[in-house]
Amino acid sequence: MNQELYEKFCHEYEKKGLWEHSTHGSKLKNCAEKYGERIALIDEQEEISYQELDLRSDQMAAWMLHEGFVKGERIVIQHVNCIGFAVMCFAMFKIGVIPVLAMPSHGMRELSGIVKTAQPKGFIVIETYHGVDHLAEAAVLQKENPCIEKVIPAERLEQMDFSQWELDEELYEKPCSRDTAILVLSGGSTGIPKLIARPHADYLHLQKYCALSCGMDENSVSLIAMPVTHCWNLCGPGLLGSLFAGAKTVLCRNGSADEILNCIEMHEVTTMALVPSLLRACISLQDLMENDLSSLQMIQIGGAMCPPQLAELAVEKLGCKVQQIYGMSEGFVSATRPEDPYEIMIGTQGIPVSPGDIMKIVDEEEQEVPAGEAGEILARGPSVVWEYYENPVMSSVAFTEDGFYRTGDKGRIDPDTGRLQILGRIREQINRLGEKIMPSELEEYLLDHPQIQQVCVVPADDEKLGQRICICLPEALSGIGLTQLRQFLKEKEIASFKMPDQVIYIREWPYTAVNKIDRGRLREMAEGKVALC
Ligand code: AMP
Repeated sequence: MNQELYEKFCHEYEKKGLWEHSTHGSKLKNCAEKYGERIALIDEQEEISYQELDLRSDQMAAWMLHEGFVKGERIVIQHVNCIGFAVMCFAMFKIGVIPVLAMPSHGMRELSGIVKTAQPKGFIVIETYHGVDHLAEAAVLQKENPCIEKVIPAERLEQMDFSQWELDEELYEKPCSRDTAILVLSGGSTGIPKLIARPHADYLHLQKYCALSCGMDENSVSLIAMPVTHCWNLCGPGLLGSLFAGAKTVLCRNGSADEILNCIEMHEVTTMALVPSLLRACISLQDLMENDLSSLQMIQIGGAMCPPQLAELAVEKLGCKVQQIYGMSEGFVSATRPEDPYEIMIGTQGIPVSPGDIMKIVDEEEQEVPAGEAGEILARGPSVVWEYYENPVMSSVAFTEDGFYRTGDKGRIDPDTGRLQILGRIREQINRLGEKIMPSELEEYLLDHPQIQQVCVVPADDEKLGQRICICLPEALSGIGLTQLRQFLKEKEIASFKMPDQVIYIREWPYTAVNKIDRGRLREMAEGKVALC
């Protein structure tokens, strides 16, 4: 990274007021003073006011200091959506300890990668979830990684009584706005997620403008339906953006369609974010359930390609506006606005949410293309990071010298509306229920199978999943079924969302003109558009 140039930009963002001299801890204090007893968060067990959230996180922070955690050290959190998660994060924000977010669906392979890079001193983990003994996994990780001094079961932390603890400001070094607030995971163009360090200033900036872009304010009730450990659900505006906008935030634990519909009715939710596949599931279920969704004003749809028909269906069936949102953990977010005309809301992904962010569409030589032409989207600005954490090799691939992030996504500026339209991926990636999977990663594992010498993994469009993972094997291996492939991959200890959904057997591999395997053709076969050959 060009440190000098980066500094220059940071300074400019501060001068223009795009980056505030503030931190997540001090923002929460301001909110506690402003909103006091008002409900901040609701989960399936309890609700908590702004004041209480501030107090509880202060107390937990005091305990963490006592346990020996200090500014700059890292703690991995592998947890589900609940108030306890928010308390832990704010406790860490306040004393400058950095939460590293892992998902409950991550397997040992991803977790090891995260731990190797982050070198955490602590590991807070949900004991068991969906039948997986996460605590046992954390114990193995601790054995293999001496940096982890403490494994703390999340449930135990939530039940501890911290009421005697008091956060004494004299006793610790406070973080400042440019310090790293959190380490989040990239959507992944590699198997092991890359880590992204988000400073307080840029993360707060993004949350604020995401909240503004979807019209969120003190009267909003925001539903976090998907895992809060994913960046969008935490900051786009997500949990943090809704909190700082003064909204009431409801946390879904499992994120199933019926839980989402029930939560909307029960808490009179006004705003929520969904990936297209989950939106489709909610629309289908609502046809049967007929919940009262009259409070709903806005659904953010993003994370994966959303066909305009689905956006239209959401407006028609759920009776609300939609906000098409395109973004990534590296920071850039573009979205439609509530006041946009119908065609823009349905057919585009809008304009950058931050007034400081810029994007350009470039060709293969990284030259800007004229409006209307498709190319790769590059983005830079006060919400976009300049590098990956402790990963100079991948940083130099993904970021330009002058601070643009190469998204790997294909887009164009619609010449009629001037808005961004996402057209898919430039580089290969499967987007299954919003989770990103690299075919090359699965292929690498599968080639370890004693019988597999050739394999291709391709996406196939899927009504329910968005895209399903299809494995293409030579016909001679038709004795290896999907169950066996899944079992084999399970032994590789990878995330559950990377498990294949389909296998097809190929008699003769299709080739392109330049003699590469024609993955497009394989995909058409997987989708049943052309006959297997
Ligand atoms: P993540 O970092 O996990 O949020 O993943 C970011 C990636 O998700 C982007 O680079 C896109 O490939 C994809 N993505 C996000 N939003 C959209 C959208 N509205 N339409 C299509 N793809 C999207």
